[in-house]
Amino acid sequence: MTVLAGVELGGTKCICILGTGPDDVRERIELPTQTPDETLAAIAAVLARWDYAALGIGSFGPLDLDPASTSYGAITNTPKPGWADTPLLGLAGDHPVAIDTDVNGAALAEGLWGGAQGLTSWAYITVGTGIGVGSIVAGQPIRGLGHSEAGHVRVSRVPGDTFPGTCPFHGDCVEGLANGPSIEARANMPGRDIPRDHPAWAFAADALAILCHGLVFTSLPERILMGGGVAMGQPQMLPMIRKRLVESLNGYSAATMIADRMDDYLLHPALGANAGPLGTLALAQQAFARSAK
Ligand code: ZN
Repeated sequence: MTVLAGVELGGTKCICILGTGPDDVRERIELPTQTPDETLAAIAAVLARWDYAALGIGSFGPLDLDPASTSYGAITNTPKPGWADTPLLGLAGDHPVAIDTDVNGAALAEGLWGGAQGLTSWAYITVGTGIGVGSIVAGQPIRGLGHSEAGHVRVSRVPGDTFPGTCPFHGDCVEGLANGPSIEARANMPGRDIPRDHPAWAFAADALAILCHGLVFTSLPERILMGGGVAMGQPQMLPMIRKRLVESLNGYSAATMIADRMDDYLLHPALGANAGPLGTLALAQQAFARSAK
């Protein structure tokens, strides 16, 4: 088996992983995300010890993923202090490398080894401090004007709700209405203290359901996998989102194909919290396949 390496860059921690897939992870090292210089040097020191055939990088974004661009493979205009315009491909040295958003990587991992095996088009959504969407269409992450940022679409609001939202760019986009910090702001207490029947969860579930409504009719996922701390840690969330999604779709078009099997349509990622790190191995696999042609 070809041994691959992956790096997942997150807002608070980075994970370096060496292996061939979920059943064969040979090393996994977590590092705190500090300044770009400190963080990339620490990652490079880990990679220098490893013998691997290709590297996959899954990162928070936004990323420049246009191979024709001079800043290809860089983090671009992120609000994360110090990290704007940070190139990442140098981590690979002379190795074949593939880079994508952390959520696109996670989505690819679910396709290879998890809850989207055998499907053509699917979506992976993470709901945590941020909200990211990896949309796979015809087997590949959708591309065009950059990568998917569907976590930042605007959605219809619950009638009468005036909560301004927490997204620094858009206020009440989905991320601003349903990420962890927005739920805490609504409830005015830390997430771990919010009771499961608190209305703050239902407001977030509504925004996530309307996000799914948009995905169902645009990127046409055959399944939606929803992970991240808010979705995975709060068992009341998925049932609320499923119910609201069925109501919102209202039996139109593709809704007839999924309304009766919502429990099998919107569910947690099969790889759980490992979808992101394993996504970097999925990306490394693509890089290796391309280099072998
Ligand atoms: Zn936003």
